[in-house]
Amino acid sequence: MTTDPQATTSGATSVDAAATAGGAAGVPAPAEQLRGAGLRVTAGRVAVLEAVAGVPHATADDVVRTVREALGSVSVQAVYDALHALTEARLLRRIEPAGHPARYERRVGDNHHHVVCRSCGVVADVDCTVGHAPCLTPSSDHGFVIDLAEVTYWGLCPQCAAARAS
Ligand SMILES: [Zn+2]
Ligand SMILES: [Zn+2]
Repeated sequence: MTTDPQATTSGATSVDAAATAGGAAGVPAPAEQLRGAGLRVTAGRVAVLEAVAGVPHATADDVVRTVREALGSVSVQAVYDALHALTEARLLRRIEPAGHPARYERRVGDNHHHVVCRSCGVVADVDCTVGHAPCLTPSSDHGFVIDLAEVTYWGLCPQCAAARAS
């Protein structure tokens, strides 16, 4: 993203607007993403993608609740099936903090990490700060061709830390 001072004061803005139309930060619409991944576009899958977009690091229960608000009655199994298919197609990323329910997010393919609160389970993203994926170099790779480093930081979120201190 460049900061061209002329962009806000001249006709150049219309070019920028056209280039980014159709989705925030160039993210394609859910239906397009499904087609791009070779998946059939169904109302359930679109609703699941939208639910996870609205609640980053959503649990399956969160997704069921949100999808039911959008579509009415949808079976838990249908939502689980959609989560599974979307994760397999890499449209969703599934993270599984030990001792906590799995979480789903739309932020895929960037090898970011997570910090998890030991007390309440809240999850936040931690960007990779050094280089490209994999951002951690193992002391021994055991001959593997490594393409992902997944780090979970554990601690207390600000709310839980404040509650303990008081
Ligand atoms: Zn907490
Ligand atoms: Zn994340």
